[in-house]
Amino acid sequence: MIPRFKPSIGSAELVALVAPPADAVERFERAFATRFGCTEGIAFSYGRTALWALLQALGIEGSEVIVPAYTCSVVAHAVTLSRNSCRFVDADLFDYNMDLDRVADAISPRTRMIVATHLFGFPLDTVRLADIVADAEQRYGNKIWVVQDCAHAFGARRAGRLVSAEPDIALFGLNVSKSMTSVFGGMLTTSNRELASKVRAWRDGHLRAPSPLKPVLRRAYLIAVAAAFQDDVYRVVRWLQDETSVLNRLTKEYHLDDRISFPGDFAEPMIATEAAVGLVQLARYDGFEQCRQANARFYTTTIVPPRGWQMPPLVEGATYSHFPVRVPNRAMVMHGFLRRGIQLGEVIQYSVPHMSSYGPAAAADYPNSLFCSRHTINLPVHSDLTDDDRQRVVDAVEAMRRSMSPDEARVAVSGRLS
Ligand SMILES: *Cc1c(COP(=O)(O)O)cnc(C)c1O
Repeated sequence: MIPRFKPSIGSAELVALVAPPADAVERFERAFATRFGCTEGIAFSYGRTALWALLQALGIEGSEVIVPAYTCSVVAHAVTLSRNSCRFVDADLFDYNMDLDRVADAISPRTRMIVATHLFGFPLDTVRLADIVADAEQRYGNKIWVVQDCAHAFGARRAGRLVSAEPDIALFGLNVSKSMTSVFGGMLTTSNRELASKVRAWRDGHLRAPSPLKPVLRRAYLIAVAAAFQDDVYRVVRWLQDETSVLNRLTKEYHLDDRISFPGDFAEPMIATEAAVGLVQLARYDGFEQCRQANARFYTTTIVPPRGWQMPPLVEGATYSHFPVRVPNRAMVMHGFLRRGIQLGEVIQYSVPHMSSYGPAAAADYPNSLFCSRHTINLPVHSDLTDDDRQRVVDAVEAMRRSMSPDEARVAVSGRLS
């Protein structure tokens, strides 16, 4: 079974769990910031906690924050739970990112922050966004903070420059589904020292100490994850998850449509155990990125897309945390791949403003976001993929293309997507 994503956890990560140095978090912050082009790193228990803390450290409350409509729901939750409101901007169908043409219109006198997500590793045009923001700041006379959300785009570059190094501050998530992991965890990086000390002081003054049991739980979790992704175990895990309700409850918990809430330990700091794993993964990060980029290039140059399929663009500097493809009938495609032992992700299978906790949004309000949420699949691009795995994915697409009935092909061409 080729899993839809797979963290690369080896013996070095497991060894790191044993006796993490007391200053592991500070060391991870420094090394992480340096790798991603910044001077300051501030670690948290989750990426969402980092954004939630940043808003409060800046004293932003009762304000509007611009958030992509098509992104991870925890971003919107962090805005809401810090007592601010989201102003959503629809996606651009080219690279799934927030449509910059719509950002200027979304800015109001109450806007204090823009979360610029580089979705699936596609770098947003940071220069153009900075111009839009500078104009709006002039017009309204407020500072508008820009957060480069790099949770999918750790080393992504635009015109050769790391997007994480662009002003004002970058946000990362480090759970096991990301391009590198520190078990859980989140990070802010910036080269603005004043901002960094403000956020760090807020964090140190407000987060509560983790329970003494936490290092044990985190260790057990990472070992369980490493075991679960062993091929024979993964078959069972997948079966439990997709065909029974045993694991379903746990995984669905992450995105409960009707509830805006965070895990019980979200307001705690990152612990040394997590940082020690993060340090090992950081040293391996360049290799992970090269593998993902090579896998994306391989798919782009090898796959002949079936009618109606929209392949992602090949973008210089993109990190391909995912390889999103839009297909007419997602359920059918996913089922077809599963029969061939390939699990596909749905990536982001919701449009945030259409979720019941943020809605009601009409279908016409954020049409691209809704469209992407219904038609996107994710071909596996993780760094542990073998040449043989990649070829199997390509073969599965080819088999699907050949077996397409004339009817299906006609539906695809006329654009009547289900
Ligand atoms: C994962 C993710 C985050 C942070 O997630 P946490 O699970 O809270 O660490 C932020 N933004 C995006 C786009 C993400 O995918």
